[in-house]
Amino acid sequence: MDFGGTKLLIGEVDEDGTVLRSKRYATGFMRQADAVRALMEAVRDYRDNIGFAGKPAAAGVGIVGIVDNARGEWISIAHDPEGPPVPLARMVSQELGLPCGIDNDVRSSTTAELLLGQGRYSKNFIYLNVGTGLAAGFVVEGQILRGANVNAGEIGHMVVDLSDGSPCACGRAGCVENVVSGIGFTQQAQLHGMDELMTQAGRRADVCRLFDRAEEGDAVCREIMEYGARALACVIMNLVRTTDPDTIIYGGGILGDERFLHMVERALEPETMRGVTRGMVASSFNPQYAGLLGAVSLGMVKARTLRKGATA
Ligand SMILES: [Zn+2]
Repeated sequence: MDFGGTKLLIGEVDEDGTVLRSKRYATGFMRQADAVRALMEAVRDYRDNIGFAGKPAAAGVGIVGIVDNARGEWISIAHDPEGPPVPLARMVSQELGLPCGIDNDVRSSTTAELLLGQGRYSKNFIYLNVGTGLAAGFVVEGQILRGANVNAGEIGHMVVDLSDGSPCACGRAGCVENVVSGIGFTQQAQLHGMDELMTQAGRRADVCRLFDRAEEGDAVCREIMEYGARALACVIMNLVRTTDPDTIIYGGGILGDERFLHMVERALEPETMRGVTRGMVASSFNPQYAGLLGAVSLGMVKARTLRKGATA
């Protein structure tokens, strides 16, 4: 189950990462209790109406918000909890009669890279997701970093500009997510009064159009794009100095645009990046199923852990 806040994809995947069947469900809940109800209904619908091609070994849920993988609890959908943690792994496990692993969407994608993707060739890599927001997963010596409060990887709230006084929702000022992400490019477009970049719904900047306009020579769009690229390169180099990875794997729509990717790469200092011997590599997953593969990887880890426990 890949639950991204606005969409839920449930699917069955084999151990090589091949998607056997799947079904997309519409969601759009901002409250955790509503989301849990919708998720459990969808699980029952999938089991009863789509069914399984094979005999499933495990289930997994990759989900937005704060998730405690070890306890199998979904702590909150947004920054602040609405109530006690939801024992989502146990709920899904009981419904399907399968072991179930859960984690947040970025660590779930990081697990997929480690088991099925570009991370198979590395023990020390960073998975960087630049999409609506900006976040990262860290693998150090083959282990995924989660942290004392399962909050590791919130790199969007690293400050890259001490002179920027504009406050962020996290309580600091100058956070990088506010300049380079779907949210960030939207804020920058609004600050510069570029209403023509807003999508029909009017709530998000069309990042592709921003890059098009920059390419066509629009000075303001060019400045927003270049500043975003330099800020992201700064974060990447700070992270490289922190965990010493040999690979940076990237996903999410924004670095998928080659014009922006090349701008970021040009801003990386060779001296800092020389240990990143495999360089910046794109996730090899089909973006449509990347989240689903993340969820599946969580199930695979859970099943392996249980097998190890059984033979120990
Ligand atoms: Zn922040």
